[in-house]
Amino acid sequence: METFDYIVIGAGMGGLSAANFLAKHGKKVLVLEKHQIPGGLVTSFARQGVHYDLGIYGLYDLKKKETIQQFLVYWGGEWIPTVPCRGEMHAYIEGKPHIFRPGRLKEDFQEAFPQQAEEVNRIFQRMERIVTEMFSGTEAPEPPYDLHLLELVKFGIHSWRKKPTFMKYGVKDVAKVLDKLTDAEELKSAIYAYCPYPMVFMAFAYQWGVFGKGEYPLGGMQAIPDAAAAALSKAGGVLKLREEVTEILVEGGKAHGVKTASGQVYYGAVISNASPQHTLKWMKGEDRALFSLKKTMEGRKIFPAICTLFLAVDDTYDFQQTECITIAGRKAYQMKPEEYTPENVPVVINIYPKRDGDIYRPLVALVPLGYHYEDQWRTGPGQERGKAYRELKKQVEETILQRITEHLGEDFRRAVQAHEFSTPITFERYTYSQEGSFMGWSIEEKAYGKYLRQSTPIKDLHFVGQWVFPGFGVSAVMASGYYLAKDLLQNEGIDLKKEFQQFVENR
Ligand SMILES: Cc1cc2nc3c(=O)[nH]c(=O)nc-3n(C[C@H](O)[C@H](O)[C@H](O)COP(=O)(O)OP(=O)(O)OC[C@H]3O[C@@H](n4cnc5c(N)ncnc54)[C@H](O)[C@@H]3O)c2cc1C
Repeated sequence: METFDYIVIGAGMGGLSAANFLAKHGKKVLVLEKHQIPGGLVTSFARQGVHYDLGIYGLYDLKKKETIQQFLVYWGGEWIPTVPCRGEMHAYIEGKPHIFRPGRLKEDFQEAFPQQAEEVNRIFQRMERIVTEMFSGTEAPEPPYDLHLLELVKFGIHSWRKKPTFMKYGVKDVAKVLDKLTDAEELKSAIYAYCPYPMVFMAFAYQWGVFGKGEYPLGGMQAIPDAAAAALSKAGGVLKLREEVTEILVEGGKAHGVKTASGQVYYGAVISNASPQHTLKWMKGEDRALFSLKKTMEGRKIFPAICTLFLAVDDTYDFQQTECITIAGRKAYQMKPEEYTPENVPVVINIYPKRDGDIYRPLVALVPLGYHYEDQWRTGPGQERGKAYRELKKQVEETILQRITEHLGEDFRRAVQAHEFSTPITFERYTYSQEGSFMGWSIEEKAYGKYLRQSTPIKDLHFVGQWVFPGFGVSAVMASGYYLAKDLLQNEGIDLKKEFQQFVENR
């Protein structure tokens, strides 16, 4: 029988973060991960002479003094060497190409749309303002659900006064905002194509991806979880891979351990990095606390999922300085995710650098065809990934590849040496993220900011990661690990906030 202070289900970046903060402060921590590698949605894999990342390219918080690196070093780990993402973005709107160069993105948009030069200026100003205000020291000092009613009202008034652009535009849907700023459909779709999601996300994506502020780890995205796992081991924490939790032991409204697929039982308080919907399935019984947890999730919308097409391209095709290619129709910005089909869905292709040992160039095309496409990808009542699913998957893969070829030419198609497609069903199967969501809850206008609490009605059961404050994204889920550890350690008189601040000031 093995007993720990905390058992973390999942070695995603949220789980690894919480585990590291707790282990650094002397807690006996065990992380159980169903895969053979840590990282969850931040992983890399190799196939036939190429290393692929799951889809993330430039990250905003990866410079030496930014959150991800600060956390790694605070935990006692090593900082990760990175290279800046400074390539060109090529946008094909209704087949027409536009080239946007790093460092002069706005100017290139203005040259491409000379009639709308002032409108381009306004759109870019709004996006920059949204991001500046989002990070401007007036954010909730703690997760907003922890504020008292009076504090919450004060926070709301303060936000409207200090963050007017963010409040007015940031939490709106993109089409509504763009419609207010310009009538030019091609311009709206050229902007939207890079990030077909709500405004706050698009503004943020432009910061890290296109304004040239993103960084890419030299060793690929896997370098991030690997560094976090190494720090954990140094701090005395234990990470067990290929160990899937199948049951959370709950008695008298209190979690006290887990059972795994290999038949092991581990005792301790439980922190789940998996989605809350799957976590609920691992608890038996009719406990009132369970019912209450289920209730808090009712009616919440999930962030739409994504498909990924992995491509291995040989050197006969020269991408030159291009790092990102987007393909979209003229009215793409108006479409709702449920209206996407393989023929009209916007496609964003990230072109990665070759890593040591790579024979081909890795490309990852992100295709936001959702989880519910074709009645859940024709999996049928038992959600079987049978013949119908495989045929549909193949068909969609071919259509997307054909659309890319129509834009890049037959030379490109000949240079593609291998390709592989994953659907939202694949994402769900691999990570147990509900509906394959790669961002947790929806951030649509009506849903934005409604966080799930990290601590649950079940005593000693907590959540960490993209489903709780402050939401999705690598640095955000790592921050959720910090917030959770801060609360847990506070009960023992440890002031994590003060300690971490001192560490940052002394560096
Ligand atoms: C294509 C794509 C592009 C993205 N782009 C960006 C980007 O540009 N910038 C950005 O910041 N973020 C991006 N993200 C989002 C970001 O990757 C996620 O928000 C974040 O990594 C989620 O981390 P997490 O710890 O919450 O969960 P996850 O990464 O989902 O980790 C959960 C872990 O729990 C494990 N697990 C689940 N159930 C069990 C069980 N029963 N037993 C054991 N282990 C279990 C899973 O295997 C997994 O490892 C992107 C994601 C994708 C997929």
